[in-house]
Amino acid sequence: ASPNRDAGILQLRYRLTGAEERPLALVGKGICFDTGGSNLKTGGSMLGMHGDMQGSAVALGTLLALTRLNFPAPVDCWLALAENHIGSRAVKCNDVVTALNGTTIELINTDAEGRMVLADTLALACRKPPRAILDYATLTGAVVSSLGNRMAGALTNRRHWVEPIIQAGEHCGERVWPFPYEDDYDDDLKSEVADTLQCRTAGAGDHIYAARFLGRFVDKDVGWLHVDMASTGTHKGGLAHIPSDIQGFGVRFGVEWFKRVIAE
Ligand SMILES: [Zn+2]
Repeated sequence: ASPNRDAGILQLRYRLTGAEERPLALVGKGICFDTGGSNLKTGGSMLGMHGDMQGSAVALGTLLALTRLNFPAPVDCWLALAENHIGSRAVKCNDVVTALNGTTIELINTDAEGRMVLADTLALACRKPPRAILDYATLTGAVVSSLGNRMAGALTNRRHWVEPIIQAGEHCGERVWPFPYEDDYDDDLKSEVADTLQCRTAGAGDHIYAARFLGRFVDKDVGWLHVDMASTGTHKGGLAHIPSDIQGFGVRFGVEWFKRVIAE
C-alpha cells in the first residue's frame, strides 16, 4: 500500500578480477518504514520504524567492508527494499499471496512483512545457487525476549555451523547465538488454504518459526545463516566496537563469517 511504487530488490555485485567461482550472497531486510500495515502498530511501537531497514544497511556495510579488504571471493548483495503501509491496496489477514518460487502463503499478520520480502529475495538469490547465504533482518520481537539486547540470534540449515557461528561472533566481538532449526516446527505453520502460514496466530518462538518459513525459499544445497538482529539494532551506549546507539552491529560478524566460509 505504499503511495510510492518504488519497492524493489536491489542486487549489488562485487568481483575481484579473475574470481569466477560461485558468489557468496548477502541478503538484507530493508523496510524503510514499518507502520505494521493493516495490523497497524499501536501506541509507541511505530516510533523508530524508519530503522527497520537495518538488515539492508548492515548487508551493504558488510559488502563495502569486503570490497575494501579486497576479499578474494565474489559476493552478491541483495537488498529487499520496501515500506509497509496501510491503505486500500494493502494486504489483509487471510489473504493468500504467491511468492516468487510459487509457494502460496496465508497471511496472518501484516506486521510480519519482513519475512514476506525476504522470501522473494532469498528465492531470487537462489535462482543461481550461491556458495552460501548470510541474511540480516530486524525480524522478530521473540528474539529480543529470548536474548535481551546484547547478542543477535542465529538460525542455520547447517547443524555443523552452530559452534563456528558462536566462535565467529566471539572472535570479532559481535556475539551471535544460535537457536534450533528443526523440521517438526513446520507442523505449527500448516495452512488449510495455502502451502504455509506466514506465521503462527499466537504462541512463543516466533524467531524460530520465522526461520523455518524463510527456509522454504532457500535451496537445500546452499548453506544458509539467518541473523535476526532485532535484539541488537539499537543499544543504549553502543555495542561491540561502536559507542553510539546505532552501531552497524553485524558488519564485523559478516566479514568474519565469510572468511570462515571460504576457508571451510
Ligand atoms: Zn513489521
